[in-house]
Amino acid sequence: MRIIRADRVLTGRPGEVIQDGEVAVDGAEIVSVGPRGSAGDAGEIVSVGPRGSAGEVLDLPGHTVLPGLIDAHVHLGFDATVDPVTRRSAESDHHLLLRMAENARKLISAGVTTARDLGGRGFLDLALRDAIEEGLAVGPHLLAATRPITITGGHCWYMGGEADDVPAIRRVARENLRAGADCLKVMVSGGQMTPGAPPSWVCQYSTEHIRAIVEEAATRGKGVAAHAHAHAAIRSAVEAGVATIEHCSFFTPSGHRYDPELADLVAAGGTYVCPTVHGVVWRLRDKFGSEMLDAWLDGVVAMRAAGVRLIAGTDSGFAAAGVANDTDAYVAGLEVFEQAGFGTAEIVEMATARAADACGVGAVTGTLEAGKRADLIAVRGDPLERIADLRNLTLVLVSGRAVTQTGVDTVTSSVG
Ligand SMILES: [Zn+2]
Repeated sequence: MRIIRADRVLTGRPGEVIQDGEVAVDGAEIVSVGPRGSAGDAGEIVSVGPRGSAGEVLDLPGHTVLPGLIDAHVHLGFDATVDPVTRRSAESDHHLLLRMAENARKLISAGVTTARDLGGRGFLDLALRDAIEEGLAVGPHLLAATRPITITGGHCWYMGGEADDVPAIRRVARENLRAGADCLKVMVSGGQMTPGAPPSWVCQYSTEHIRAIVEEAATRGKGVAAHAHAHAAIRSAVEAGVATIEHCSFFTPSGHRYDPELADLVAAGGTYVCPTVHGVVWRLRDKFGSEMLDAWLDGVVAMRAAGVRLIAGTDSGFAAAGVANDTDAYVAGLEVFEQAGFGTAEIVEMATARAADACGVGAVTGTLEAGKRADLIAVRGDPLERIADLRNLTLVLVSGRAVTQTGVDTVTSSVG
């Protein structure tokens, strides 16, 4: 058993802070969380052994321990600069898989211990997910959507999930689930990264189409993530019962137009929204102008006021107007929420417990409690004072395995 002690432990549950607390970890599991000494006499009698050995007590004065961070929206198969459509023919799957492994390493170097990959090609996300679990690659626990379901020639069609009517949609959904997808992703509206595809304000699917996907996912107890910018797309996603709406940007041909009535519908439906707030917002503002970016961010703030359950997720991997959204910039996205007026405790919840619930893994991770997976981080400072302190990583545990900044420890400690 290992005991990690710190000035404070944030359990991930709203506002719950244990001053001078400790977390006891046995193997891959948390066995207790409480004030100093609560793990029992073990804390006094065990010796401080080598890192990772049984009986270690890790005392971290000046630190905060909290659940590992969760990025609810990544694309490990994008490298944030190269046009993905061009690269589809130019880059082999073998090469792309190595790129994805490097992006996974970057994620964990930012304290992200669970990430939901919402779209890639060739089921490579499943190969990487399984390799990480085996200890062959370094990264967070991955929840893989595999091929996003989209219309022929639609947003992200090049990932291989094209389907135009309900039978074809069910077929692609079932193939993704057969391959081992952890969730399904549907492109309800168009988007910005696929040349020649419908733009963001155009709907690609009806409520009936999305409902078929929700039904297929439910046969395996999985949820659906719906990419939706357009008003009608947001409405259909709620009506069909998806688990999360991605972006939810209220986009129209003349820019972002927040609709309070529609936001009320999202809130009433209990649908989680991942507004994909990322750290390059301010640079995009320089490129696209403050009017557009401010209208979008105002919409995020208004959704919060309407009671919509928002979660953290960066859409890392995409690039807009040549501005890269890098995989290791997770905390920068949280800082945007802070600058937009969100409270620090609320942001921590959006990045841990609430994100886990939204992604369907709230029973196994997202909070520090006995019986849950030992996914946690220790940072110097206090994120409840400054979200930026989440950058001061001293310890990252994924299923109880320590990960260094280079990640080497995970590989060596997990093999054999
Ligand atoms: Zn995305």
